[in-house]
Amino acid sequence: MDEGVNTVLIVGAGPVGAVCALALQQQGIAPRVLEAQPEDARADTRTLALSHGSRLILERLGVWGRLEAVTPITRIHISQRGALGVARLSADEVKVPALGYVLPYAALTVALKQALADAAIAVDYGVAVARIESGADAATLLLADGRSAAAPLVVVADGGRGDAAPKPKFERDYDQMAVVCEVQTELPHASQAYERFTPEGPAALLPKGDRYALVWTAKRADAERIAQLPDAEFLVALTRHFGGRQGRFLQASPRKTFPLKLAYTGSEAADRVVRIGNAAQTLHPVAGQGFNIGLRDAWELASLCGDTPASEIGSAAMLAAYARGRRVDVLGGVGFTDFLVRVFSNDIAPLRHARGLGLLALEVLPPLKSFVARRMIFGARG
Ligand SMILES: Cc1cc2nc3c(=O)[nH]c(=O)nc-3n(C[C@H](O)[C@H](O)[C@H](O)COP(=O)(O)OP(=O)(O)OC[C@H]3O[C@@H](n4cnc5c(N)ncnc54)[C@H](O)[C@@H]3O)c2cc1C
Repeated sequence: MDEGVNTVLIVGAGPVGAVCALALQQQGIAPRVLEAQPEDARADTRTLALSHGSRLILERLGVWGRLEAVTPITRIHISQRGALGVARLSADEVKVPALGYVLPYAALTVALKQALADAAIAVDYGVAVARIESGADAATLLLADGRSAAAPLVVVADGGRGDAAPKPKFERDYDQMAVVCEVQTELPHASQAYERFTPEGPAALLPKGDRYALVWTAKRADAERIAQLPDAEFLVALTRHFGGRQGRFLQASPRKTFPLKLAYTGSEAADRVVRIGNAAQTLHPVAGQGFNIGLRDAWELASLCGDTPASEIGSAAMLAAYARGRRVDVLGGVGFTDFLVRVFSNDIAPLRHARGLGLLALEVLPPLKSFVARRMIFGARG
């Protein structure tokens, strides 16, 4: 590896790091990306929900047209178990082709990898960053294999997994885990997604191919037991939990679980270092905000770099301007998600009725509907 020749070094070629690299390249800045996984690593089986706003970013980078296996969401049905109140959002009402899109994480990473290669962006696969040393003029990456690299700006897009990650400024443990799998329902999905709030946590069905991707939030103590139920018992339990709006649940793929928490670290870590995507904020998946905020982080950071004189890239003034510019969108998403999880994940009677009224208001008040739909599509901009 050449030392110290790039203006921007990016740690992590996940979706956020890759989008940042492509967007920087469009701004005329050649980044270098370091990715711990080998080039031929198989991406895991998680499902992503992209907002319409994320589609626009991927279109501008020429990635959207390369994506395979994308399923649009044209309607969202929101309800709570055991109480009144239903709200429906539709793409037509907000005048967008789809409210969101569902696709395998693997499909996105394959398309991004190809786009990085076609754009001749330098990516060092199989190179893990062990430590970052920040300095006044440059930050230095100390690599696990003993080498090092330095640049005036280091972008940390490692998903928040690095051992050297700073302590989050704000954390909330929801005592919940997600049980995820794909399910086949009796009725076809017709591009409709469901969000159903229950006292144990929200359950979401996202149309994916000819099936649904299920995200079933459960209390930590119950999640592994639910995930390990034999198929037939799992399908019965799911019907009991979710209700019969899609008819019976006929089939389920093997279940996986992952812990759900809120961790807000923020973008500012040290001189010459900026954190974006899951490295800056990890959110509960309830409103599909986290991943989309991460893509906007990447896009906005690259745009700001493009607007900054080369000698000022990575300066304290630039990093402060980036943090200021992202505050409303990021904290808006953090607050909105945290509100939904906490207000809906309980069975307190007055709250249950208030939630019913809230869903009714969402159903009948077009401005409120439009506000919620736009937040889910574009986030909050300052
Ligand atoms: C288990 C799990 C399941 C999820 N399921 C869903 C879901 O169902 N729906 C949804 O919308 N979102 C889901 N999410 C969240 C979603 O995956 C993230 O929002 C999204 O992946 C964030 O992208 P990112 O690029 O910031 O981080 P990541 O996708 O985590 O990418 C980080 C990249 O950095 C690399 N890296 C890490 N450390 C280093 C290092 N030291 N040196 C070099 N490279 C490094 C990693 O190999 C990886 O390629 C899930 C997250 C997890 C952890």
